[in-house]
Amino acid sequence: MSEKEKSAGELLKEKLVYKKKSAFEKCPDEKEAAFDYCEGYKKFLDNAKTERDATAYSIKLAKEAGFVEYKLGMKVAPGDKFYYDNRGKSVYFFIIGSEDLENGMAITAAHIDSPRLDIKANPVYEAGGMAFIKTHYYGGIKKYQWTAIPLALHGVVTLADGKKVDVILGEDDDDPLFYVNDILPHLARDQYAKSVGDAIDGEQLNLLSGSVPFDTETSEAIKLNLLKLLNDKYGMTEYDFQSAELCAVPSYKARDVGLDRSLIAAYGHDDKVCAYPEITAILGLQNPKKTVMSILADKEETGSNGNTGMKTSAFCDIIADISASLGKNERIVRSNSICLSADVAAAFDPNFAGAYEINNSALINSGIALCKYTGARGKSDTNDASGEYVAKIRKIFDDNNVVWQSCELGKVDQGGGGTVAKFISEKNIDTVDVGVPVISMHAPYEVVAKLDVYNMHKAVAAFYTAE
Ligand code: MN
Ligand code: MN
Repeated sequence: MSEKEKSAGELLKEKLVYKKKSAFEKCPDEKEAAFDYCEGYKKFLDNAKTERDATAYSIKLAKEAGFVEYKLGMKVAPGDKFYYDNRGKSVYFFIIGSEDLENGMAITAAHIDSPRLDIKANPVYEAGGMAFIKTHYYGGIKKYQWTAIPLALHGVVTLADGKKVDVILGEDDDDPLFYVNDILPHLARDQYAKSVGDAIDGEQLNLLSGSVPFDTETSEAIKLNLLKLLNDKYGMTEYDFQSAELCAVPSYKARDVGLDRSLIAAYGHDDKVCAYPEITAILGLQNPKKTVMSILADKEETGSNGNTGMKTSAFCDIIADISASLGKNERIVRSNSICLSADVAAAFDPNFAGAYEINNSALINSGIALCKYTGARGKSDTNDASGEYVAKIRKIFDDNNVVWQSCELGKVDQGGGGTVAKFISEKNIDTVDVGVPVISMHAPYEVVAKLDVYNMHKAVAAFYTAE
């Protein structure tokens, strides 16, 4: 239909009404690039299940791209590319820009911890002819989802002599797995009577870890045999669990979903799906005007506390020391800085449509989701980005053909959540939440759409280089 044939109402509608477009409509030629990009993302997922794994793997990629280690107090100069390794659990990548630092930095912050089962300090026991390892869940999980699935152990054990031993067990095809038992349906009458949230108790999340006794004379010989095998493999004793940091994570590899291969199922999309685009965007950057920083934070899933979480002073310490090195005022630098809090959004799911308000939900394949605010109920506990700042970000995305949409987590009174945004904005930095929509968030196996992942990369790259 030509312009002339359109009615006045249709023309007015085109002018006034906002119509969300999918990535297929807006960028019809990008499917192949997005699918290619996600091959690297899947590799990242398989190598970055915990914050320690993600830190080590991303530093390896950064070193290959010419980044060098930064220590507080170091001299910096325009063009320098650094990584700051915060205790092997969080990392800050940054490139010193050519323009005045007091014009502000462009910062993005994702988190690299994901919900999982952490091993307790006194974990090993035997019962019913089996040896178990007790766990304490980390982050917001639906506990019933963590039974009867393949689990792997990741982490470190620091032995009595101070030697640190790395543990990854359950990822190779011929590795043994760990497993949390569930009750058979035939005997589940009591369990069926409970609410879903109580169907599995925290103290039932015990890892099945063996069943062979060391001998038939010694008491607790199955536990003893498990300890012997751990000693043979890692040189550890039961006492060494006290100074261990071990996590049970799903032993799933990232895989394509759907015959069209448009989706990816993996453990830990929240928030590796924002961490990876940050890494690819900053590693691909040469001599930016603005000083840019990509943060991969730990502890988001438990409230961002501790010295590796986003509340750590390490964040401001780095900015202060860069500022001092360049003879700039740190407070002015922060006040003029801008930030994308890069964290996932809840994708609208038609199977649970009642939890969402469709006009303000993120749709799969409709690009990255911008959440002006998160929180719960009456916007409790949220960073609520200013409309002016959202306008600035919207323009950057539109100017660079980034497919994006705005969203809320779900229906107003349905629940809520938070991100690191408020911990950055309270440092006097304009901050807004932007991230990839995820299906089945916090499940052991989550799903995202490849086109959305690719648009996250485009968004971060555009943000770093915006005027
Ligand atoms: Mn998250
Ligand atoms: Mn989360």
